[in-house]
Parts: sequence; C-alpha cells; structure tokens
Amino acid sequence: MDFNLTKQQEMVRKMVADFTENEIKPIAADTDRNSEYPADTIKQLFRYGVMGMIVPKEYGGAGADDICGAIAIEELSKQCASTGDIVATHNGLCCGPIIQHGTEDQKKKYLPMLTTGCKVGAFALTEPNAGSDASKGTTTAVLDGDHYVMNGSKIFITNGYVADIFVVFAMTDPSKGTKGISAFIVEKDFPGFAVGKHEEKMGLHGSPTAEIVFTDCIVPKENLLGVEGKGFNIAMQTLDGGRIGIAAQALGISEGAMKEAMDFTKSRVQFGKPISKFQNTQFKFADMEVAINAGKLLTYSAAAKKGTGARFTKEAAMAKLFCSENAMKITTEAVQMFGGYGYTKDYPVERMMRDAKITEIYEGTSEIQRIVISSNIL
Ligand SMILES: Cc1cc2nc3c(=O)[nH]c(=O)nc-3n(C[C@H](O)[C@H](O)[C@H](O)COP(=O)(O)OP(=O)(O)OC[C@H]3O[C@@H](n4cnc5c(N)ncnc54)[C@H](O)[C@@H]3O)c2cc1C
Repeated sequence: MDFNLTKQQEMVRKMVADFTENEIKPIAADTDRNSEYPADTIKQLFRYGVMGMIVPKEYGGAGADDICGAIAIEELSKQCASTGDIVATHNGLCCGPIIQHGTEDQKKKYLPMLTTGCKVGAFALTEPNAGSDASKGTTTAVLDGDHYVMNGSKIFITNGYVADIFVVFAMTDPSKGTKGISAFIVEKDFPGFAVGKHEEKMGLHGSPTAEIVFTDCIVPKENLLGVEGKGFNIAMQTLDGGRIGIAAQALGISEGAMKEAMDFTKSRVQFGKPISKFQNTQFKFADMEVAINAGKLLTYSAAAKKGTGARFTKEAAMAKLFCSENAMKITTEAVQMFGGYGYTKDYPVERMMRDAKITEIYEGTSEIQRIVISSNIL
C-alpha cells in the first residue's frame, strides 16, 4: 500500500486545517459553552465543498475520495469535535447511503440538495429499545397505495433539529426480523414528521442531538432507499463507512489535545524548569505520538480499502476502536499535564476530554467494535 497522500488529499488537509485555525478555533469554546449549533461555520463548509465532499461531481459534490473525507473530519475535530461530528454525519451517514443505494432519480433529487443546496442530512436508526441491537427497532412503515405510513420514534439523532433530509430505518414486515427492515429518505417537511426532545449532553455541545417522531408520517413510495427488506444491510454498511469518520474525529481530538499539552508544558515552569523537560512528560508525549500515528495508518488504510470496493467492516471497526480509546487516554493525560488549569474552562483540554468520550459510544460502542472484529477473525 502507498502511504503517501495524493496531491488532492494534501490540498484538502491544508484547506480544512487553515479554515479550522482561522474560523473554528476562535469560536470553539463558545460553541461548547453556549451549546450552540455552529450554523455559520456549516454554511461556510458548504461553500468550501466540505459538506458533501464525497458526493460525485455530477450531483454537486467535490467527488473526493474517502481518505479526503477522513482528513477533513480529522482537521475539523482538532479544534471542534462538534463540527467534525456534524460533517461526518452529513457526509458518511446521509450522503453515503444515498450515493451507494439511491436510484438515479433519488440521487438527482437529493444529492444536489445535500451539496449546493446547503440542506443538512441525518441518519436515524437508534430507538429507545434498539441501540447496540439495532435490529430491535419498532418504527413501522406500512405501504398504502403510492406512499408508506410511518409510525414510531428515533432517539439520539445527530443533526436532529437542524437537518432537512433523513435516512430512516423502519420495519416494513415485522414478521421477518432484520429482513423486514427497510430504509427511506424522509424530508422534515413530510406530513407527520416532528422533532422531539433535544438532548443535553456531557460534551459535543455544538452538535444538535434530538429525538425524531413519526405520527402517520407520509413517505412517498419512491423514497424507499434500496429494496424492501434490505434496510438492515444498508444500515450496517453505512455504519462501516461512518466508523472511519469517527476514527478520524477521534484522531483529530487526540492531535488537538496533544498540541495543547505540548504548548502548555513547554511554558509551564515547576521545580525550576518547563515541565516538558521532565522525562515523565516526554515519555507520555512519545506514547501519544505512537498512538496517533498508528491510528492514522488504521484510519487511512480502512478508508483506502473502502475506496477499492472491497469489504472493510473489520478495518473500520479496528480504526474506530483504536482511535476512540486512544482519544480518551490522550485527552485524559492532557488534562493531567495541565494540572489544575486542565480542570478549568480556561483551556480547551477539558472540552476535548468530554468530547472524546462519545467516540467510544456512538456508531457502535467499543464493546460492539470488539464483537465485530472478533466475529471477522474467528
Ligand atoms: C451524542 C450521540 C449521537 C448519536 N447519533 C446518532 C445518530 O445520528 N443516529 C443514530 O441512529 N444513533 C445515534 N446515536 C446512538 C448511538 O449510536 C447509540 O447510543 C449507541 O449505538 C449505543 O446504544 P445504546 O445507547 O442504546 O446503548 P446500549 O446498547 O444499551 O448499550 C449499553 C452498554 O451495554 C453494552 N453492550 C450492549 N450489548 C452488548 C454486547 N452484546 N456485549 C457486550 N456489551 C454490550 C454497550 O457496549 C454499552 O456499554 C447517538 C448517540 C449519542 C449519545
């Protein structure tokens, strides 16, 4: 495998890194403190072609490859994991399944909306009693002439109260178990669609998480994504791709926290010298550097494999598991290196630590990643 980034991948890194430094870093603390959706940032990311960047050019996207997609999320998450999450969900979980499973008509209608049309996308699978075991959802979609009637609710939906377009999973034939689940493209303006509870979270305060409720929601028949009964496969395939995005988000958080800790320990003097001069501190940075570089290899190689069209389920799970657990370790260590200052909101490392935690939970917990990896090797 060639580990050199292409010219396009390097360009994406530079463009998003500059944008993050100039536009996101100055507002990241307030976005967190005020639990504010960064609407202006997202508008700009549409203009820069980052929202929907993996969408083929003929449908309004940048036609970027999956490594570019991962790099963009990594760079954004160095300063603001919420922004990384909003983009990862839009690109990987909403545009992704429409690119992969949409009909030509669906692609022509929805992908331009999700790129040049500046409409935000979301992915709705989780329900109160169907989290890790996503097969146990009870939302139903019953065919009635030229439309489906959808009833039920979804929880913890990223972009929930700002999104216009949702990829939703519902039972079309409850007697068939997972083979009775189907996927749909649902617009927020469809009759019977409503946003429910807005979640208050430990971290990721700028990322809007909400409940979605369907009450006799009318979904046109032509909005079935893929064929009836294949929804569970579509959900699992989509999550494989999404996990590369979360690995990239976790990587970015780790890199951001490590940079903050390096800057701080170089200037903080105790016992007559900067704490970066203590070997204890230096060894911690050495371990962080190894973990971040190993995480990059796992993440970019999973993305490269996705790009070949080969199955990448195990690779994506390994990348997500490794990068998310290291993000938690690295951010916790960064807080420790800041001492008491790390525990205050004067520095970003406490936010990074809170934000890192979610990467071990969503799009499949660490336990679920271990199940996926072991079931692929045993
Ligand atoms: C901020 C946020 C954003 C989210 N965004 C979205 C979104 O956009 N769309 C969406 O559909 N969902 C979303 N989710 C839902 C998320 O994917 C689920 O929360 C996650 O998959 C875990 O499900 P659960 O919360 O029901 O936990 P549970 O499944 O109840 O798990 C609880 C604990 O039990 C463990 N466990 C469960 N089963 C096993 C097992 N077989 N073996 C060992 N341990 C097990 C889990 O690892 C976990 O530690 C989001 C969640 C959050 C918090």
